[in-house]
Amino acid sequence: MTLSTLSRSVVAKVAIITGAASGMGRSTAHLFADEGARVAAIDINQEPLDAVVGEMTEAGYEAKGWVLDLSDADAIALVIADIADHFGGIDILVNNAGISIGTPIDGDDYMAAWDKTLAVLLTAHVHTIRAALPHLRNAPHPRIINIASTEALGATRFGSPYTAAKTGVTGLTRSLAVELGGEEITVNCVCPGPINTGMTDAIPDEHKEIFAKRRVALRRYAEPEEVAHATLSLALPASQYITGVTLPVDGGLTIRNA
Ligand code: NAD
Repeated sequence: MTLSTLSRSVVAKVAIITGAASGMGRSTAHLFADEGARVAAIDINQEPLDAVVGEMTEAGYEAKGWVLDLSDADAIALVIADIADHFGGIDILVNNAGISIGTPIDGDDYMAAWDKTLAVLLTAHVHTIRAALPHLRNAPHPRIINIASTEALGATRFGSPYTAAKTGVTGLTRSLAVELGGEEITVNCVCPGPINTGMTDAIPDEHKEIFAKRRVALRRYAEPEEVAHATLSLALPASQYITGVTLPVDGGLTIRNA
């Protein structure tokens, strides 16, 4: 017997995780699988994706991988339809895949970086959401979680395509939360701070340490699983009255003044 009524379980729910081959996507896929979800793992990189899916299936979990370039809208529609067909529905969509291309506004390759960044970090979310929506509408507790960044709340030099795209993700999240709220579909956004993933691999450890000590209240980079737990929380059936939020998971980066 329990005294409360809402469920904190994602057992048997079908969760799509994009960018699942590395970093936060991999940790999120692992966590959702540990919690009993059926995981549809999407990534552009076949080999690491196969490895992550192998880790889940060897642990006895239900998981399958789809190789997909999220800048290809037609391919997104086909893959999402195939996922729904394979698992018999979609409950949770986590738009996580990302790239980071730093470039000055007057750089020769700025427009190429802009187009690629917007395609992967923002337009792809629109395509996955549009393709998943008919299936989410059939789910008992449909959840959309977009992974933005603290770059949506502040900015870093030479990061304007990334910051513009991530800020777009927070706006998309708010707008769709309002639009889909009447259908009990929640749409939320996580803003990770500095996390040890493939994206930050090239930053030397001593630079990470200096940055974290100066800027982060918890004075360290996080591991990707620390973000995955926030994503899982927003995906729970019990989180049914949380929608349209932009949740920093940043160790206090955005609240620290000095
Ligand atoms: P990561 O590089 O470790 O993982 C990103 C994954 O996305 C990779 O597996 C990559 O292959 C995949 N991907 C890239 N382009 C793709 C495409 N076109 N189609 C399909 N898959 C594609 O990086 P991460 O840090 O785990 O990034 C996850 C998300 O977190 C991204 O949206 C990123 O912008 C965001 N983020 C990261 C940090 C950080 O400090 N690492 C901070 C804030 C936000």
